[in-house]
Amino acid sequence: MADKKVLIVYAHQSTGSFNAAAKDMAETVLTTQGCKVEVSDLYAMKFKASATAEDITGEVKDAEHFQYGEETMLAWKEGRLSADITEEHRKLSEAEVVIFQFPMYWFTVPAIMKGWMDRVLTLGFAYTSEKRYSQGIFKDKKAMLSFTTGSHESMFSANGINGDMNVTLWPLQNGILHYCGFQVLAPQIFWAPPHITSEARESMLEAWRTRLQGLLGEMPLTFTPSDSFDGGRGFQLKEDVQQKLAANEFGLSVGIHLGKPLRPNSQIKAGV
Ligand SMILES: Cc1cc2nc3c(=O)[nH]c(=O)nc-3n(C[C@H](O)[C@H](O)[C@H](O)COP(=O)(O)OP(=O)(O)OC[C@H]3O[C@@H](n4cnc5c(N)ncnc54)[C@H](O)[C@@H]3O)c2cc1C
Repeated sequence: MADKKVLIVYAHQSTGSFNAAAKDMAETVLTTQGCKVEVSDLYAMKFKASATAEDITGEVKDAEHFQYGEETMLAWKEGRLSADITEEHRKLSEAEVVIFQFPMYWFTVPAIMKGWMDRVLTLGFAYTSEKRYSQGIFKDKKAMLSFTTGSHESMFSANGINGDMNVTLWPLQNGILHYCGFQVLAPQIFWAPPHITSEARESMLEAWRTRLQGLLGEMPLTFTPSDSFDGGRGFQLKEDVQQKLAANEFGLSVGIHLGKPLRPNSQIKAGV
């Protein structure tokens, strides 16, 4: 792990929070192992969440019909993105591992972190229509979600009131992280820290410490390679691939389920 650069993108308002403790633990353990750790503390930075024309300095190409993706790609190429985005681009370019640390809000990341994703994962810099998924721009980097919930684990199960956590994680892990090419490490889920004993919270943090010590040696989650899809047929799964999978018990992934049962825990554990 020595000399590896790690970026922690962190979203919590309070230094006394469980999220702060998880972030501090990651910073301490990874630094002790010789990593260079940078933290983007989004609330402390008052990070702007909304994707607007103000993210570009100078003239925009079409003010009347402003298209954020196209305009920011042009501004990125011309070095005219706002200073806050440019600084996050620097951190992200240097990082080999990115950890997103946050409390789950409405089944996803808090708005300030979604704003970081909207604004920092700029078209051209983070993805293009040719460079995405397994051919993605960040395919040599790893990323992971580390988050707390208010709900207990049983509530986010296939029989639980919130439904299967694997379904909840698919848009973030496939639609954002893997879309940009990241190898996605299994998420670190801290279940319901406000509703458990302090001993249980401490043991969750100790488990996180242990995991962090071997984090970079972990296998990523499995996603379907981009070349399994046929660009000439609207990026449908190739027919020969479909035929090979016909007898399989499970679908390929949460989203590409082929009308079959979901492979259990495919968004939570590597190698399933
Ligand atoms: C807008 C919004 C939307 C939400 N949506 C969802 C949702 O969709 N699904 C869901 O499940 N939940 C949801 N929640 C709940 C939210 O996810 C949890 O409240 C949050 O994840 C708890 O994490 P925290 O860091 O804020 O906990 P905190 O309340 O900060 O901490 C929990 C406890 O840990 C203690 N603690 C702090 N440091 C340590 C330490 N070092 N060692 C041991 N204990 C420590 C704290 O003192 C506290 O007692 C939502 C909440 C909001 C506000």
